[in-house]
Amino acid sequence: MLPFARVSIIGLGLIGSSIARAVQIHMPTVRLTGHDADPSVRERANALGFLDDVTDTAGAAVTDADLVILCVPVGAMGSVAESIADDLPADAIVSDVGSSKASVIAALEAALPGATIIPAHPVAGTENSGPEAGFASLFHGRWCILTPPAGAPEAATERVRAFWEALGANVELMEARHHDLVLAITSHLPHLIAYTIVGTASDLEEVTRSEVIKYSAGGFRDFTRIAASDPTMWRDVFIANKDAVLEMLQRFSEDLTALQRAIRWDDGDRLFDLFTRTRAVRRSIIEEGQDDERPDFGRSHE
Ligand code: NAP
Repeated sequence: MLPFARVSIIGLGLIGSSIARAVQIHMPTVRLTGHDADPSVRERANALGFLDDVTDTAGAAVTDADLVILCVPVGAMGSVAESIADDLPADAIVSDVGSSKASVIAALEAALPGATIIPAHPVAGTENSGPEAGFASLFHGRWCILTPPAGAPEAATERVRAFWEALGANVELMEARHHDLVLAITSHLPHLIAYTIVGTASDLEEVTRSEVIKYSAGGFRDFTRIAASDPTMWRDVFIANKDAVLEMLQRFSEDLTALQRAIRWDDGDRLFDLFTRTRAVRRSIIEEGQDDERPDFGRSHE
């Protein structure tokens, strides 16, 4: 039996449109409605045909939904929740896909008092955004973390779990603050580092921009992929997950200073030990099927 019959998606970009496409394939009888604040996105979503109905207001998209998923930048979650409050059916479950969880839960609870809220974070994505960027297999074999607040009905959590498993994801439950700490080191800090390196390189005076681009295969281009991620989404993530990001950044800065010292004092053993440990982390990620094991991240060299 399907966990939900009528799903509403607010925010029709990469993640929202990928969910809709995956539902069409894995749960074809589910009725899908959706809304996006941007009229051009609504038009394109209509043309792409991944929803049964695209509505002009967020409220109209949720009137008969049994699951509502908010797929907007985390800074917009509170105002979107406010905009559906009057039309939300009493028995609907509200979920989201935000990349940080504690502040999103606080915003949703404030805007929708008494609603059943089961937040989620599919740990899957690309550097592209918009409705054209979505694809149905995005969540296959990827983790989706649910962070139900204390007191959330277990049956509701299990229905949201069944939904994500039907889309091909592996589901894990986590406390929101712990989620924010884990994602600060596995996702948010790597994005901050990528944004920094690419920014620093583009500001250099001694090395020309064309040299940076020409010799990017030395490692730089892998950072540029991450640093091409959506500016609105990432601005919101850093502000929403400020505490956890600053804590991890402090640890990172201390470790970076230690490496700086090792280089200055020709402490090769220290460098070698660290680089050996980090190689093992890469091996574990491949063994667990979380990345491509082909050399050079699977790039074609034909
Ligand atoms: P996206 O492709 O930029 O899509 C977001 C869509 O939401 C845009 O069309 C945006 O319209 C729309 N929107 C913004 N404010 C709105 C509002 N108030 N009401 C209705 N629609 C609104 O972004 P995304 O990558 O799908 O990210 C969506 C969420 O997923 C974010 O919370 C992000 O943290 C989370 N997430 C992202 C990834 C990833 O890798 N991208 C992975 C996991 C989770 P405009 O273009 O007009 O702003």
